[in-house]
Amino acid sequence: MSLLEAAQVAPLTAPTALLTAAAAPLATPLDDARSQLASAIDVLGYGSGLQSLLATPRREMTVAVPLRRDDGSTSLFTGYRVQHNLSRGPAKGGLRYSPGVTLDEVRALAMWMTWKCALIDVPFGGAKGGVTIDPRQFSQAELERVTRRYTSEILPIIGPEKDIPAPDMGTDERTMAWIMDTYSVNVGYTVPGIVTGKPISLGGSHGRASATSRGVTHIALEALRHRGISPRGATAAVQGFGKVGHDAAVFLTDAGVRVIAVSDQYGAVYNRNGLDFTRLSAYVAATGRVVGYDGAEPLDGDALLELPVDLLVPAAVEGVLHEGNAARVSARIIVEGANGPTSPAADRIFAENGQLVVPDILANAGGVLVSYFEWVQGNQAYWWNADEVEHKLEERMLGAWHQVVEYAAARDLSLRAAATVLAVERVAEAHLLRGLYP
Ligand code: NAD
Repeated sequence: MSLLEAAQVAPLTAPTALLTAAAAPLATPLDDARSQLASAIDVLGYGSGLQSLLATPRREMTVAVPLRRDDGSTSLFTGYRVQHNLSRGPAKGGLRYSPGVTLDEVRALAMWMTWKCALIDVPFGGAKGGVTIDPRQFSQAELERVTRRYTSEILPIIGPEKDIPAPDMGTDERTMAWIMDTYSVNVGYTVPGIVTGKPISLGGSHGRASATSRGVTHIALEALRHRGISPRGATAAVQGFGKVGHDAAVFLTDAGVRVIAVSDQYGAVYNRNGLDFTRLSAYVAATGRVVGYDGAEPLDGDALLELPVDLLVPAAVEGVLHEGNAARVSARIIVEGANGPTSPAADRIFAENGQLVVPDILANAGGVLVSYFEWVQGNQAYWWNADEVEHKLEERMLGAWHQVVEYAAARDLSLRAAATVLAVERVAEAHLLRGLYP
């Protein structure tokens, strides 16, 4: 029996109706991802066979993750790893710890990773992982045990040439260090290339921790200029104050943008003169939330999305801009720090209203780009300094921006449609060149 058979890797599932569709009145991230793919395939004119191939994960694994709690009791979580596409190289994608994680959500995120890697032209396929745990409710020792157990469960399908996890919501470089150690202990030697986003002292790359936010900032500044808005003095609101949202807010402020509101899962804060991030960051480090910060007024989290700003950066979760609120969103530009924040219906409303949406697979690709740099540096065992990483990041992000903008203009497409078409075409080309086995 092969390792994969022993691990009971789930058989391929066809892209049929959603498992949750009957219960869920709103479209799910997987609906959105499939709808975006279908639109790109309409433009490309591919047949249904290729469409099914591109819409369907290559490999999915669902595992039980039992945890011995610090008090001696046992809790059980569910873990997922979905490899959406492997045609252009090993699968690559983050690991999410969130109580709401579902297989369908992970499938959508894995598909977006495939397009993101193809668009930014790194030699990876797309993957994503998730565990149904709220990391805030558990001790560090408990999170370490969950991470090690999850890693050992998915061990047969990950590896530096197979599938390389990275941080996403609820995970960080410490989580990556535990994955690296668990994998290395199991195979019997140290394998730094099993993860990216690991601590620099373990072979991580300079600039990886802030790479997504740096990329979001480069793209946001370009988008403002593209619309004739000077970044200096432009106003912005950022949803989500985690790894992506926090640093994006700081970098935008450094570039002269007035960030007037930020939010987290507990609420938002607003200051029309611009937030002081030195003070706010210290407050969040001490309390774990933005709510209650005395240098700003409290604001409802949903109201942040509707503020009259030049730039809105959703940097939290999927599906926050939808048919129900899109008409009230007045930002002139939306730059997607999060994956999948805008539904296709909201996209249509924004297009009708002349608002520019810079899609996730372009805007937040800085993270996977520097993950690729980390992988390259690790393979060479030769590390670049922070300036080299930043220079290469900016160059590649702006290159992708110009490519998408020109492609969109030449074909009268939205930036999302252009980015998705470009990416899907590259993945399809890899499929066609490789052919079907047997
Ligand atoms: P994180 O866990 O570090 O932070 C998430 C933040 O979002 C927290 O502040 C949390 O309180 C907030 N949040 C959660 N639900 C919210 C809600 N309903 N409204 C407002 N805020 C809410 O996660 P992260 O790594 O910053 O990831 C954020 C998004 O960016 C995700 O969509 C992720 O997939 C995407 N992303 C992350 C990376 C990366 O390198 N970390 C790369 C590309 C894309």
